[in-house]
Amino acid sequence: MLLLGARDLKALIDAAEAAYPEEACALLVGRRGPGDRIFVDRIVQSRNVAEDRRRRFEVDPGLRIGLERELRGGPLAVVGVWHSHPDGPARLSATDLASAYEPELAWLLTMVAGGQALHSAAYLLNDRGDGFRPLDLFILQGN
Ligand SMILES: [Zn+2]
Repeated sequence: MLLLGARDLKALIDAAEAAYPEEACALLVGRRGPGDRIFVDRIVQSRNVAEDRRRRFEVDPGLRIGLERELRGGPLAVVGVWHSHPDGPARLSATDLASAYEPELAWLLTMVAGGQALHSAAYLLNDRGDGFRPLDLFILQGN
């Protein structure tokens, strides 16, 4: 289960709509709890540095490195990645799977249609690493 504050989800939705028709992306910073729980404490929005930004995303590697450096030794870590799909597909793509090389990261996706964010869903790489499985998304009100 991925636990995300309503305010952070709103910020991601706003970013997805602002980036339309291009994909937007961000890193999710948080901590792991009991069981399958992943708590998101904050989101760190990134430029999309992919060449074909309407169909792909790539988090700014400099941002990721700086963030890892900042978090090192502390209780928080990069626990997930978020991006948007302008006008679908409504699932993670083969391109997404090809770039999913960190099995511990949660994948949060926001679908945008016609410039309006419709739906967000979370996934984890499956045990075989050849596909994604749904991860429950729980929105924390008041956060
Ligand atoms: Zn994608």
